[in-house]
Amino acid sequence: MVLHAERERLVEYGKRISQEKLSTGTSGNLSIYNAEEGLMAITPSGMSYFEITPEDIVVMDLENHIVDSKRKPSSEWALHTVFYKNKPDIRAVVHTHPIYSTIFAILNKPLKAVHYAIADAGVDEVPCAPYHLFGTVELAEEAIKACGNSKAVLLANHGLLTCGKDLESAYGLTCNMEFVAELQYRSMSIGTPVILNGQDMNQVLEKFMTYGQPGGKKGY
Ligand code: 13P
Ligand code: ZN
Repeated sequence: MVLHAERERLVEYGKRISQEKLSTGTSGNLSIYNAEEGLMAITPSGMSYFEITPEDIVVMDLENHIVDSKRKPSSEWALHTVFYKNKPDIRAVVHTHPIYSTIFAILNKPLKAVHYAIADAGVDEVPCAPYHLFGTVELAEEAIKACGNSKAVLLANHGLLTCGKDLESAYGLTCNMEFVAELQYRSMSIGTPVILNGQDMNQVLEKFMTYGQPGGKKGY
C-alpha cells in the first residue's frame, strides 16, 4: 500500500482529535506530505475517525490527482495542498473545529498573546482568514494568504488550521492554540486580558529555539 506508515499515523491522530474533542463527528481532516514521493496522504470525507482504517486514507499528488484510494478524499484537499505548495518545510496539516478557537473565528478576531504558548505558532498573533464556503479553492487561497508566516490560522465562522514539520507538531500546535483560545475567552469574560508585548514575545520566540532536551524533540 502506498504511504502505509503515513496512513497509520493519520488513523491514530484522527482518533485523538475526536477523543480530545478538537472536532465533533466527522468534522476536521488531517494530512501528511511525503516530499520524497511527492504525495500527500489525507483522511477521507465524512467518515467517523473511529471507523477509518489505513485503506480508507486517500493518496493524492499536489496537482489534484488521486493516486490511490477507495474513498472520496476530504472535501478540504485543496486547503491542504495549498499549504504544502506554499510552505515547503511543512509535512503535516491538521484542520479542526475546536470550540474556543472557533468562537474567535466566529468573532473574526485573531488569537492574541494572552499566554506565551501562542509562540508555538511562530508568531505573536494568529490571524483569522475571511469566510468562504468549506471545501472551496477560495477558502484555501484566503487561508494561506491570511496565514502568512504563522503555522496556525483561524478560518472565519469555521475553525482552525495548523501545520508543522510532522503530524505530532501540527497536532500539538492545535492543542496549544485551543489552550490559548480558551484562556483568551475566559479572561475576556471576567476582565480585560493583558497582552504580552512584542519584546516579551520576541524573547519567547528566541527561547523556544532551545526549549527542551538538546537534540530532542522540542515541546513546542
Ligand atoms: P471532510 O469530512 O470532507 O474532511 O470535511 C470536514 C470539514 O471540516 C470541512 O471543513
Ligand atoms: Zn472544517
